Amino acid sequence: MSWLSRRVAGFPTTVFSEFSALATRHKAVNLGQGFPDFDGPDEIKEAACRAIRGGVNQYAVGAGAQALRGAIAQHARRFYGQEVDPDTMVTVTSGATEALFDAVMGLVDPGDEVIVFEPFYDSYVASIEMAGGVARFVLLRPPDATHRAWWFDAAELEAAFGAKTKLVVVNTPHNPTGKVYTRGELELIGRLCERHGTAVLADEVYEHIVFSPARHLRVATLPGMAERTLTVSSAGKSFSFTGWKIGWAIGLPALRQAVQQAHQFVTFASAAPLQAAVSEALALPDAYFTKLSASYRAKRDRLVAALSAAGLTPMAPEGSYFVMADTSRYAFEDDFACCRFLTREAGVAAIPPSAFYGEAHRREARHLARFAFCKTDALLDEAATRLARLPELASRR
Ligand code: PMP
Ligand code: GLN
Repeated sequence: MSWLSRRVAGFPTTVFSEFSALATRHKAVNLGQGFPDFDGPDEIKEAACRAIRGGVNQYAVGAGAQALRGAIAQHARRFYGQEVDPDTMVTVTSGATEALFDAVMGLVDPGDEVIVFEPFYDSYVASIEMAGGVARFVLLRPPDATHRAWWFDAAELEAAFGAKTKLVVVNTPHNPTGKVYTRGELELIGRLCERHGTAVLADEVYEHIVFSPARHLRVATLPGMAERTLTVSSAGKSFSFTGWKIGWAIGLPALRQAVQQAHQFVTFASAAPLQAAVSEALALPDAYFTKLSASYRAKRDRLVAALSAAGLTPMAPEGSYFVMADTSRYAFEDDFACCRFLTREAGVAAIPPSAFYGEAHRREARHLARFAFCKTDALLDEAATRLARLPELASRR
């Protein structure tokens, strides 16, 4: 007999838990789950310790500590010229994951449809299902002779809209492909949303990890988008503190209210001393953010070179800290078989991206693997050394 509700019974164990456990068991270099193997700035760690020692240890204000909401508003003005009222337009959550969940819970009624680009960050579809919504998928296709980056077919997107479309989820920069949506693409999405009265959930957690000439556009700042866009971000990626789980949602009061209504009864408030520290992190000088991108750009190039040398064909990302690689040359049965082989035999863990597709399109990823480069150079070099043996290991299969 199973105690599970129908709501959760169909969920698999997340691919991140599965592959991090496999990596530990086989002492593999973990380029699977996306978390840095280094910490964020010392002064921000100190700020957290100071907050704990200084008695910031009881519930924060539910919507988020005032200092952090103020810092989120300042940051939005500094980087995007976006005017944010910290009192009515911000909710601080336990990671972007909670903000996304709250947004879906607060906006989606049973039977409502939500457009999601595939591949997708895995919590979107789980959240939509828990809300009783229906995900409608639009495929992102890999770069080819006529597209220098991952792309979608405009007619396919248009056809996904219908009378029940409540929400479109746009993740830019995109996990797992590294795509940074262009102005033209975002404007097209905006026009369709306007026509159908649809809201946009913009997951911008990688907003500060973008490689020029690509440029991150805050979706909410495009013409006509402020009134229909909820922006989600997180301290995890921008400050390398994924374990702190401090995230937030920003939106005009009518939309932000949807997040706040759910947030009150999901977590009520998130970790108070960490909120104090993140409010200092958001005020770091521009140089911090420039260096973050430059450092990830060098790591990207390091990993891309290692993957190419190993006979995998990387698709260099424009943003995020992931690279998708084409593994066709090794003719594995599918991406799970490939990533299990990489983890167990080559000692380098990667994520099988079919976990980020709905049932119908899962096969699109059978020859792909996702590698994370949010790792020290020493670890990336160790991965390169191990991957260099791949051709020989694979030939002995
Ligand atoms: N969205 C995307 C695209 C992500 O990659 C992640 C990182 N796991 C999240 C949301 C969740 O962020 P957080 O860890 O702040 O919950
Ligand atoms: N965002 C990270 C990734 O995509 C980790 C997600 C997680 O562990 N839930 O790898």
